[in-house]
Amino acid sequence: MIDMTRQNALTPNGHVRARHAKPATTRSTSTSAEVGEAHANRYPKHEDPTKGQVYNGVCNTTACVGRRAVWLNRGTFGLYCTTCARGQNRYNEVPICIPVDRKPTIAEMDAHHHAMMADMSALRKARHEQTTEPYFSNS
Ligand SMILES: [Zn+2]
Repeated sequence: MIDMTRQNALTPNGHVRARHAKPATTRSTSTSAEVGEAHANRYPKHEDPTKGQVYNGVCNTTACVGRRAVWLNRGTFGLYCTTCARGQNRYNEVPICIPVDRKPTIAEMDAHHHAMMADMSALRKARHEQTTEPYFSNS
């Protein structure tokens, strides 16, 4: 059993060291100020706690190493680069990803999530009322 406790994962100015500089198994107890609040329901839960959780940092998409993640996905509570965010929004009339100007708090993320659900619900309702109309012809 090797206990490799890293106590110094942060540089003096609070920045997380480059990823290649720390082992993938590092369980950092020091979530840096950059990460901010991480939503309990975020998806996926990357080994690197900063991936998709730092504003303007690395994109939340597993296979993406894009930076400048400034889009919040209102379903996964992760931050995405513009390319991924546009890709996700493309097939959804109610945008899943919205641009943010900083990392939202958990309360704000929940509010964004509820707003999205409300928009989707309203859209479904509008659709339903449209498409069911012909079925009510009882003549
Ligand atoms: Zn991306």
